Amino acid sequence: MKKISVGVDFGGTNIKMGLVDGSGRMIDRSHLVTKSFARNKKKLINALVDSILDLLEQNHLNKKDVLGIGLGLPGLVDPVKGIVNFLPNVPGWHNVPLKNFIQKRTKILTFLDNDVNLVTLGEWKYGAGKGYRNLVCMTLGTGIGGGLILNGALYRGEGFAAGEIGHMPINEKGPGCPCGGYGCFERYVGNQQLLDKGRKIFKNKNFQLEDIFDLANQGNVRAVQFWRETATHVGNGLIGIVNLLNPQLIIIGGGVSNNFKFLRKTITRIIDQRAMKVQAKIVKVVKSKLGDDAGILGGQVLVKDSTIGRKN
Ligand SMILES: [Zn+2]
Repeated sequence: MKKISVGVDFGGTNIKMGLVDGSGRMIDRSHLVTKSFARNKKKLINALVDSILDLLEQNHLNKKDVLGIGLGLPGLVDPVKGIVNFLPNVPGWHNVPLKNFIQKRTKILTFLDNDVNLVTLGEWKYGAGKGYRNLVCMTLGTGIGGGLILNGALYRGEGFAAGEIGHMPINEKGPGCPCGGYGCFERYVGNQQLLDKGRKIFKNKNFQLEDIFDLANQGNVRAVQFWRETATHVGNGLIGIVNLLNPQLIIIGGGVSNNFKFLRKTITRIIDQRAMKVQAKIVKVVKSKLGDDAGILGGQVLVKDSTIGRKN
């Protein structure tokens, strides 16, 4: 019986992949270093396929045991046509028919989606969002990503570009953003912006965000204040989402969420104070549960949902 899915989380630095059974359990995993293939897209795709096939072979599985491959990519993806439209952080990826490439070589059904959509599917089915019908998943990192589960289904938008929480303006006169807008949420709480601010405050060019968390853990007042301000921006960014979508849950993931304890109280307080009453009363803000595995597990959810009703 075909129960195994291959989940692939395609990042600008690494490609992580895993074999996932029908109940969301990770059986085995491997990874590839994306950057070692520089600009050679074809080599990278071939190495990706080889890694998938190796992983199956090492686990004594052949393609008949596999339901499908679900890939999440960091950019604009057309999941219907199976085309990667554009990856902003991986050079040379424009309109790549990746689904066909992979299906042809592996003879396994393949499905693509945006990486944050897969993180959202993973957290919804197996993580912090289990059992909820309306939720928003936000990833805090270099960029700020968002995924929406509305009325019990992933909402992709008309051009598959919904969920760009990072590019909602929170200040109409704010700094310009590569997306073309001004004062985008990401310009305040993206990792680089936080680092720049933190290095200035602590007068240390080599400071990392982890150092500021360490200081906050030791009770350093300025570090605690730094995270309180960050959480205030995050809370302010979420008010519009809470008012517009009336979700039950907001899941916060990404590197910064590892220290959620410095953020939770302030985010919740800002929403309670400033969002509309009905929406604020319903929504809960929680930390992601699956961490780095969310995208791989989401790949399995994508495969499972896409293959329902198919005769295999
Ligand atoms: Zn923007």
